[in-house]
Amino acid sequence: MPKSAENLKLKNPIELMQSLKVNPSPRNYELFYAYVQGVNEELDKVLHPLITGADAWSDSVADEIYTKYLADDRLTKLLDETTEEVGNELKAAMAILAQAGADAADYEKALIGAGGNLKNTSDPRSIREIVNHLVKATETMQNRSQTLEQKLIETNQQVEALKTNLDRVKIEAMTDALSGLSNRKRFDEVLADETEKALGSRKPLALVLCDIDHFKRFNDTWGHQTGDQIIRFVSGTLKRNIKDEHVCARYGGEEFAIIMPTTDMDTAVTVSEKIRVMIESKKLVRKSTNEDLGRVTISMGVAMFRETDEVEDIIERADKSLYLSKQNGRNRLTREDELETSAAA
Ligand code: GH3
Ligand code: MG
Ligand code: MG
Repeated sequence: MPKSAENLKLKNPIELMQSLKVNPSPRNYELFYAYVQGVNEELDKVLHPLITGADAWSDSVADEIYTKYLADDRLTKLLDETTEEVGNELKAAMAILAQAGADAADYEKALIGAGGNLKNTSDPRSIREIVNHLVKATETMQNRSQTLEQKLIETNQQVEALKTNLDRVKIEAMTDALSGLSNRKRFDEVLADETEKALGSRKPLALVLCDIDHFKRFNDTWGHQTGDQIIRFVSGTLKRNIKDEHVCARYGGEEFAIIMPTTDMDTAVTVSEKIRVMIESKKLVRKSTNEDLGRVTISMGVAMFRETDEVEDIIERADKSLYLSKQNGRNRLTREDELETSAAA
């Protein structure tokens, strides 16, 4: 008999998953979490027969549902909430621990009470009664604290495992696999955040766009895999030469972006120029065959956030500056103020 949806909705996702013996993967947890929270009516409809046990749960069906209903922009938001939910689970576990402490205190009271009663009696029958009572209280206490301890350990282990998984999934969802840099999605989020912050703080915010020069030619000559090696080399050089609070992302195939909060144009140019020179001066060797690959160069464009900007505006100016670097012969940096000079000319 399927249980009523209302009852199920009261449960927490971990309990539900346990009761259905569902593999506690982050993905399943997200589905259950979304179900319990009722975040998506369509999702509720398809999950309901699985969760009430009318249909058997399978990870592959769950995967399909997940891809269809959850694997979009909500992912990040949901993960954030899930992490919070995991925090609440921990709190619940701490409450169980506190309850165990309270039970122990009751038991201690029973012991002290019995001690007093024993002092005041010499009747063997009431002594036996007191002792029986104590034996019983002891057994109860032992059983209860064992159950509590077991439950606490299990909850803790589950929560820890989930938390680790979720943290990993969250980082993976934000990272570009080839370069290890932030991905485009993360770039969009950070830039939106930082423009917002810059408006509030009135501190400068610089955006640098970079593009590898003649990369198609490089790929055609050396193959895609060696091309990937170059993408990793450029990524690594970028990453190593920016500050911790700067965010470096793979913006497109062989295009990169650096978001530099609280950084003025001159500083952004100095940092970027240093990177450009490092890249052009490195003699590259093909890893697989040790062949000499020559050198690669990158072109760059730098723009500063303006109060009147939409996020797209600063990207557009950085991109136009980058394009001007390409037009002027590549392996160079263009600041956005050069756009006007070049337009006038
Ligand atoms: P330009 O100097 O004007 O930028 O010339 P380009 O050849 O670099 O420019 P274009 O945008 O025409 O070519 C980019 C090439 O980058 C095309 C594509 O094959 C290659 N590419 C994009 N992503 C990857 C990737 O992940 N790995 C490899 N190896 N190549 C990639
Ligand atoms: Mg390109
Ligand atoms: Mg290119």
